[in-house]
Amino acid sequence: MSTAMLLSATTRQVGRTQLFRTAVRRSYATEAAPKKPSNLPLYFMGAGVAGLGGYFYLNSTGKSVITQEKSPLDPENFKDFKLKKIVPYNHNTSEFIFELPNNEASLLPVASCLVVKSSDPEALKDEKGKPIIRPYTPISPPEKTGELTLLVKKYDNGNASKHIHGLKEGDTLAIKGPIPKFPYKVNEFEEVALIGGGSGITPLYQIVTHALSNASNRTKFTLLFSNVTEADILLKSELEALKKKYPTKFDVVYILDKPPAGWTGPTGYISKEVLRQHVAPANLNEKVKVFVCGPPGQVAAVAGKKAGMKQGELGGILKELGYTEDQVYKF
Ligand SMILES: Cc1cc2nc3c(=O)[nH]c(=O)nc-3n(C[C@H](O)[C@H](O)[C@H](O)COP(=O)(O)OP(=O)(O)OC[C@H]3O[C@@H](n4cnc5c(N)ncnc54)[C@H](O)[C@@H]3O)c2cc1C
Repeated sequence: MSTAMLLSATTRQVGRTQLFRTAVRRSYATEAAPKKPSNLPLYFMGAGVAGLGGYFYLNSTGKSVITQEKSPLDPENFKDFKLKKIVPYNHNTSEFIFELPNNEASLLPVASCLVVKSSDPEALKDEKGKPIIRPYTPISPPEKTGELTLLVKKYDNGNASKHIHGLKEGDTLAIKGPIPKFPYKVNEFEEVALIGGGSGITPLYQIVTHALSNASNRTKFTLLFSNVTEADILLKSELEALKKKYPTKFDVVYILDKPPAGWTGPTGYISKEVLRQHVAPANLNEKVKVFVCGPPGQVAAVAGKKAGMKQGELGGILKELGYTEDQVYKF
C-alpha cells in the first residue's frame, strides 16, 4: 500500500467527516460530551496520517479530554513494538498484547489491518531471502490506549504465525500500518453478511464491533462462521455477548466441519444452501454487502480467488447465487 493510496482513501473519508470533526472540537471547548456519535470519523482522522487531524474523547469521569494527534503506527515504515503480555486462548491460538508508547491509542480506521515481520531481519525470510510479511487485524478497539492486541492462530507449517508464537514477553515485533481495507460507513447497508473461517474472524469482528457500538446503527449483521471443531471457534464468548446485547441487529451461525454429538447447526463446508438461507438476497442490490475472510481455499469457494492484494474476479457460491462484485468484499 503506497502512501498515495493511503492518503487518498483517508482524505476522501476525512472530507466526508469534516463537519463532524468541527462539531467534536467545539464540544471540547464549550459543551458536555456529544451524544455518542459514530467513532468512525475519529478513526479515520487518526489513520496514521500526520497533520490531518486529532483524536478526542472524554475520560470515564466525563471531565477531561485526551488529545492525540496521530497513530503511533506508521503506514510507510515498520516500527518495533514491545510484546507486553501473552495470553493463551485455546489449543493453537494466543493473544499477543503489544505496548503502544506514551499510552497512546492505535486509532486504526475500520476496516484496516496491520502487516508484521520479524524485528530481526535474519529471523523470518522466504527462500529468496526476502522478509516474510503477513497481515493481522487487532482485536483491541482503535481507541484502546497503551496496547494493541493480536489474536494469532499458530499453523504448524506456517511462517509468520510460528514466529509470533515463538516470541517471549519483552521481545519486539516489527509492525506497519494501518493498511486501509474497506472504509465502513454507518448505515451504508441495510443488511451485511460476514462470512468467516478460522482466524479470518478478526477483520469481520473489527467491523461488527465498531458498527454495533454506534447508537445510530440500523444495519443488520449476520455472521456465518466456519471452523473445524467447536474448540476452534475464536471470540465465541464475545460474539455471544454481542448477540445478547444487539438481538435484532446481530446474529451468528456457526458451521462445523467436525461437530460434536448433538450439534444442531450446519456442518461441513459453507454450502450454497446455508448462504441462501442466511445471507440477504442479491436482489437487495446496494442495500446488501457481503464481507469474506478466511483460508484461501474457503475464500475461493465462497467468492472466487483473490488476486494477491487485489479483489480478483467474483466467483464461487456467491456468484452462482447472483451477487455482483460491488456487493462482495474479500479481505
Ligand atoms: C486482512 C487479514 C487479516 C488477518 N488477521 C489475522 C488475525 O488477526 N489472526 C490470525 O491468526 N491470522 C490472521 N490472518 C491470516 C494471517 O495473515 C496469515 O495468513 C496466517 O497467520 C498464516 O500465516 P503463516 O505465515 O504462519 O502461514 P503460511 O506460511 O502463509 O501458510 C501456512 C498455512 O497457513 C494457511 N493459510 C495461509 N493464509 C491463510 C489465511 N489467510 N487464513 C488461514 N490460513 C491461511 C495455508 O493454507 C498453510 O496451510 C489475516 C489475514 C488477512 C488477509
